[in-house]
Amino acid sequence: MDAAQSHRNRISISCIRCRGNREVVINVEGPYSKLQMLSMIGRKFIDIGANLTDPMFQGIYNGSPKHEPDIKSVLNRAWNAGLDKIIVTGGSLDDCKDALKIARGDGRLYSTVGVHPTRCGDFENDPESLLEQLKQLAEDGSKEGKVVAIGECGLDYDRLKFCSKETQLKYFEKQLHLATSLKLPLFLHCRNAASDLIDILTKHFGPKEDRRELLGVVHSFDGTSKEAAEIINLGFCIGINGCSLKVEGNLECVRSLPSSHILLETDSPWCEPRPTHAWNCFVPYQPLPSQVKKEKWQHGCTIKGRNEPANIVYVI
Ligand SMILES: [Zn+2]
Repeated sequence: MDAAQSHRNRISISCIRCRGNREVVINVEGPYSKLQMLSMIGRKFIDIGANLTDPMFQGIYNGSPKHEPDIKSVLNRAWNAGLDKIIVTGGSLDDCKDALKIARGDGRLYSTVGVHPTRCGDFENDPESLLEQLKQLAEDGSKEGKVVAIGECGLDYDRLKFCSKETQLKYFEKQLHLATSLKLPLFLHCRNAASDLIDILTKHFGPKEDRRELLGVVHSFDGTSKEAAEIINLGFCIGINGCSLKVEGNLECVRSLPSSHILLETDSPWCEPRPTHAWNCFVPYQPLPSQVKKEKWQHGCTIKGRNEPANIVYVI
């Protein structure tokens, strides 16, 4: 073995979809973690859903401050891991204003404007005024090239305690009209409500027939292959994150998807990759370097249990 060879790092990459293995040799001096090596292969990622407005990125957990805001370090790790662009998700009017503010801070950041199904109670006071404010924000942001979708909106029947089904349905439809009037794609959330979601989308957009343009994405998908096929058939993509790869049934669904309709996301700080998830046998999870509990945070550390965009490399 010559000197050059001794410096080669090898990683084996398995594919969840075709189950094939591929060994990649990287000519760099080691030692490097798998995460660093994956980013060195030159893959570029777009995280289509990161909740960077979440208080956890300000160091606040369940209302209690634990460390300094570290969003800058989070973003630096993301760019170093091969992220090319990140879409910051908004889930309420204030949240969307913050998301746009973050997006304006870096040419690689974008944002969405919409109200999450569990937050649709926000509309009840003065629906017309809230819709108008959302429209204005989305219009201004999209003219700047920063707001790229209406969302996240949709239906969440797992968390009706936050907002009734009736209210969710009413304001989901209003937001569909907003997206259509502004000609923006949709960033949709769906939990335990696929049948209603598909019915409403079919009614709103009509059957796909020869429509070619994509209408948006159903993010954090954890439904069945049949539901995914119906959603794709309407002209939507499927967003995959850690929550979409938890159990073998999820992997079967992902295997059934055409790669042309898969979009990757982290949904950080949620949906972190865990070694107990089904996907772990394909891309063994290694925590980001210097991972500590939130109480032990220092500059440059990552937080146990808080997902961040650099983990996108595991969603492949
Ligand atoms: Zn969601």
